[in-house]
Amino acid sequence: MNIAVLSGKGGTGKTFVSCNLASAIEKSAYIDCDVEEPNGHLFFKPTDVCSQKVCVKIPQILADRCNHCRKCVDFCHFNALAFIKEEPMLFRGVCHSCGGCKIVCPNQAVVEKDYSIGEIRTGKHRSIIVKTGIMNIGEESGVPIIRELIKNLPCKNNIIDCPPGSACTVMESIKEADYCVIVAEPSIFGVHNFQMVYKLVKILKKPFGIVINKVNDLNNPMQELCEKLQLPVLEQIPFACEIAAQNAAGNLVYETNQKAKEIFERLYAKISEVVK
Ligand code: SF4
Ligand code: SF4
Repeated sequence: MNIAVLSGKGGTGKTFVSCNLASAIEKSAYIDCDVEEPNGHLFFKPTDVCSQKVCVKIPQILADRCNHCRKCVDFCHFNALAFIKEEPMLFRGVCHSCGGCKIVCPNQAVVEKDYSIGEIRTGKHRSIIVKTGIMNIGEESGVPIIRELIKNLPCKNNIIDCPPGSACTVMESIKEADYCVIVAEPSIFGVHNFQMVYKLVKILKKPFGIVINKVNDLNNPMQELCEKLQLPVLEQIPFACEIAAQNAAGNLVYETNQKAKEIFERLYAKISEVVK
C-alpha cells in the first residue's frame, strides 16, 4: 500500500505524520519527496546510507556541425533555446530535457549530456527503509528526482512525504498513491490551505482522509468544514506540550510517547480498513 501524506503549506505537521505513520507499520519505507527541504531524515537518523545521483539529459550544440538553420530553436516550446548572434544558445534552467531539439536537428549537431540536479540517499532506521530526495541548490524543478523516487518504491507499505502545496511536484508524488492523508490545521488559515490540496486529490480521484493536527480547546473551523462536507476525519492530534517538545527535539514520538504511539497505530488501522 502506498500512502501519500499532503498538506496545503509547510508547518502543518506533514513530515511529523509521515515519519510516525511509517514507524507504526512493520516493514515500511519512508519516502521523502519534499526534495527542496527534506527533513524526515532528522527524525529517522538513518544508518548505512548510500547515495545515488539523479541526472537529467541536457542538449549540447556542436558548433562544427551546426549550419544555423534554427530548426531546434523553432521547435523548443519551452523557449529554452534562443538564436543569439546567429548561434543557438541554451538556457538550461528552462530546458525540460524532452530531447526534441536533438530529433529535429538535420545535422546531428545536438548531443545530450548528463547533468546532475540532485541525489537520492537511502538508509535504514530499525526495519524502516528511509529514502530521501535532495535537490541541488539553485535548480528549478525537483520533478525528475521525485519521479526517480516513486519509480522504485522499495516496500509493500510506502509512506510518501509530499512537498507542501499543490504544485506539479505534489501531483508527481501522489501518482502511485493508493490513499492520500491530508494534514490540516484547525484554523481558518488551515481551512484555506486544505482546500487547495482537497481539490487536487478530487481531480486525481484519489481516496483520502484528513488528519487535523495541533487541535486545542478553541474553535476548530477545519472540523466544522469536514462535518459540513461530510469528509472523513481520520484523527485529531492534540496540541500537547510533551508531543511538541519531543518532536522539536528530533524524536519519533511513536517511539517515545505512548499516547502518540496509539494515535499512529489507530491511524494506520483506519487507512488499512479503507485500502484492503
Ligand atoms: S531538450 Fe527539449 S526543452 Fe530542452 S532545449 Fe531541447 S527542445 Fe527545448
Ligand atoms: S537544428 Fe541543428 S543545425 Fe540547426 S541550428 Fe539547431 S543545432 Fe544548428
